[in-house]
Amino acid sequence: MQIRSIEAFPIRLPLKQVLTLSRGVSRTIEEGKQIVLVKITGEDGTVGWGEAGPSRRWSAETIHSAYTTIVHYLTPVLIGRDAFDLAGAHRAMDKELAPGLDPGQPVAKAAIDLALHDLIGKSLGIPLQSYFGNKSADRVRLAYLVSAPGPDETRAVVERGLAEGYRDFKVKVGSNLETDIANLEVTMELAGEGGKVWPDANQGYTLAEALRAARAFDAMGVEIFEQPVPMNDIYGMKKLLSATSMTIALDEATMGLPFVIELLRREAIEGVVIKVNKCGGLYYARQLCDLAKNAGMVLIGSGLMDAPIGFAASVHLFAAYGITFPVDLNGPQHIAENYLAEPLPIELPYAMVPDAPGHGCVIDEDKVARYRLDLG
Ligand SMILES: [Mg+2]
Repeated sequence: MQIRSIEAFPIRLPLKQVLTLSRGVSRTIEEGKQIVLVKITGEDGTVGWGEAGPSRRWSAETIHSAYTTIVHYLTPVLIGRDAFDLAGAHRAMDKELAPGLDPGQPVAKAAIDLALHDLIGKSLGIPLQSYFGNKSADRVRLAYLVSAPGPDETRAVVERGLAEGYRDFKVKVGSNLETDIANLEVTMELAGEGGKVWPDANQGYTLAEALRAARAFDAMGVEIFEQPVPMNDIYGMKKLLSATSMTIALDEATMGLPFVIELLRREAIEGVVIKVNKCGGLYYARQLCDLAKNAGMVLIGSGLMDAPIGFAASVHLFAAYGITFPVDLNGPQHIAENYLAEPLPIELPYAMVPDAPGHGCVIDEDKVARYRLDLG
């Protein structure tokens, strides 16, 4: 089926609360969650929806760059192509915007990729997980994200998460080691035996700090330590692996296949954090999952505060690959309103795999118009 049209809609969804990374707040309340929605229509009228929701404090894409990339560079090379030819679509996009150490504006490319997957699923009348051909699980367990300045605030955040039905917590660290340890201790105490708790430094530590942190976290019984050092510090990541029994999970460092393969060759990687948007969509995310699983690496599921389309697509993927460790898909925790006509199946602490065709999101186009964002 040929791709007949591609439309892009910048929107802004209001936030309930901000998320603070080691580099500062990921987006302010005033900014809200800014997204470019993409609607791809096939020649028979079948429609697929995708989204790009960049976080400029996490990687170098903005709402403006995502919009202009989709409209001026990606759309022209995709119109008229076979919608089922995902590999060809990615080749065409990568020819237009060259990959480097990352896939080259992956968040913008992911919007196209998600819309094509949705269109294919709807055209076949099957949910994405069936299209992936792997029903390892029918749900994933959602973690609650903790980003608080000190132990008292951390306690309040964790208690709120527990009250909402969450059991597992990812704690943002990487600013001050003593505070980070105190925040982690409070979280582990409240989560108790039944909950998983792990720290994410978002590249915030020097190697010396990361080694001290690793010793402290290890002694507390933490299983996973996410992206302790900068993504280009291969020596540091390798040294951390030998210094701790924890799994060092690489997130920012695992944007795409070529760099993950290089990290494997250098024996610097044991755990991979999969985010659908950072590797350019489901097509490359699946290859990364296959590589990681076959190489015996630990798979961790995560996202970029995804709105429902990115969230649902990730749930299909993570359930297909049988990811049992809690996943950090924190869109529902942070985003106050969305563009759905019907809510997604979430029974905290679980997100169930939607059983409607495609990714399973039913879009309310009146809401899309209501949240329209003027990019100026
Ligand atoms: Mg991370």
